[in-house]
Order: sequence, then structure tokens, then C-alpha cells
Amino acid sequence: MIREKILGVKEESRETLAENIPVRPPVMCPGCPHRGLFYILGKLQLNVSGDIGCYTLGALPPSDAMDSCICMGASIGMAHGMANAKGEQFGQKTVAVLGDSTFIHSGITGLIDIVYNKGTATVIILDNSTTGMTGHQHNPATGYTIKGEVTRQVDLVKLAQAVGVERVRIADPFDIAELEKIVQEEIAAAEPSVIISQSPCALLKDVKPGKALKINPEKCKKCRKCLAIGCPAIVDQGDFMEVNEVLCTGCGLCTKVCNFKAFETATGEKAGDING
Ligand code: SF4
Ligand code: SF4
Repeated sequence: MIREKILGVKEESRETLAENIPVRPPVMCPGCPHRGLFYILGKLQLNVSGDIGCYTLGALPPSDAMDSCICMGASIGMAHGMANAKGEQFGQKTVAVLGDSTFIHSGITGLIDIVYNKGTATVIILDNSTTGMTGHQHNPATGYTIKGEVTRQVDLVKLAQAVGVERVRIADPFDIAELEKIVQEEIAAAEPSVIISQSPCALLKDVKPGKALKINPEKCKKCRKCLAIGCPAIVDQGDFMEVNEVLCTGCGLCTKVCNFKAFETATGEKAGDING
């Protein structure tokens, strides 16, 4: 009765509603540029010190690629502290991951500490040109004020170099083969390093979606490897796999993990045109 008064819904209609809501685990959006990075971090089985943002979803299946998330800006200090406490071998399997706006908000101090204290941690900045989780606000790395006016833009590469990081790399999170190589090189380096995983949020209005893909049933072996990237547009129908063409942004990440070139454009272009 109290619930009915507060919510204005009857108990029976709430039950009907619950029955009709499809199960949808929290996942990154289709076309999200963070997906490729977390797929690689999970594949490499690294210790991932995470932070606060939409990318915190990387902690959830199927990537399962975030081991700690304490508070905003803590990822870098946590990675540095864990590496110091647990030794060099652990440190070389440990990365800090945080977004561009979180890095500017409170991550930069941790990076200064790593350099100052002669740490060797690898910091991965997810630069998606916006502040995704809280509603697409600008931040000092986008080049626009919070009101959308053009302003001075913080250059993340120069900023990392200015505090003493000599190894700074920019990576394309959709080129997962190259990204994996870069991550392996930087975690092996005996000095601090920064990787900027750079690609805009799929929901920014200037980011135009590509052609939706489909799965060719004659090529698909139903191995389900593509499910490992956790794209909500890829649906396991039991007897067959399919792409929800309404959700698909055509980002092409799935084409990089399918060994059978089964993903094609909905208009029938050959797999080779999109499978790099
Ligand atoms: S990875 Fe390729 S072959 Fe395997 S289930 Fe997915 S689409 Fe089919
Ligand atoms: S189905 Fe493939 S191309 Fe479409 S959004 Fe998902 S990963 Fe990107």
C-alpha cells in the first residue's frame, strides 16, 4: 500500500512490468572505444587498477578486466603501491586505467608520484574526447569549456612528458593487434609509461555510425569467440549467432576477433572489405 502511494503503481502491474523487461546486464555501448582495450587487458590477464567512469564496466563479464576501483583518481596510486608492495614481477603485470577527464581531475598527481618515486607502472588513459559517465560534459582535454566555447586544450602527451614520463604512446583501441603489442612493450619497460587509448565516444554527435554488420551463417562456426568482446549487438540465439542491426554501429571490433571472417556488412559486402 505504501509503495502504491509513493510510486503510484499497483503491485500486480509492477510484477507484469518485471516479467516483460528483457534481461540486460550492464555493458558498454555498442561501438564503445573502451571495449577493445578491456578485451586485451582480460586476454593478457593483467592486474588492472581501475577508476571511476563508464569504463568501470570493464570490471564485469565478459572482460572481467578490472581488479580494484577505490575512488576517483586512485587507480595510479594503487598500481604504484601494489607494484612496490608485491615486487617487480607483479609490477610488470600491473596497469592503471582511467579516463581522460579523471586523469585531469585527480590522476595526474599519481603519475607525478610514480615518476618522483622511481616507479615503473604503466598508466593507460582512455581518451574518448568527453566525460562519458556523467553526461558528455567537456573537460580540459577536449578543447572546449563546460559551456562549449573554444578554449586552450590540455595536450595529454605533452602533459605526461612534462612530469617526466619518457615513454608515451598513442594507441587505436579498435586496432587490437597493435594495442596488445603496445601494452606488452610498455608493461615490460623498466620505467614509467603512459598509453593513451584514443578514440571518441560512440555517442558523440559528431561520430557517425558505420554500416551495421551481419553474421554470415555459412561462415559462422558458432565458436562464440565474438561474445568475448561483450558487444550487446551480438546475440547468441542458441542455434545461430546474429547481429542486432539496430544496435550495431559498424565499429568493426568483432571482425578483429572472428577467425572465420563471418561478419559482413548488411548490404552484402565481402568480409575481406571489413576484416583487416
Ligand atoms: S567468432 Fe565468428 S565464427 Fe565464432 S561465433 Fe562469432 S561470428 Fe561465428
Ligand atoms: S556487432 Fe561488431 S561492428 Fe557492430 S557494434 Fe558490435 S562490435 Fe561493433
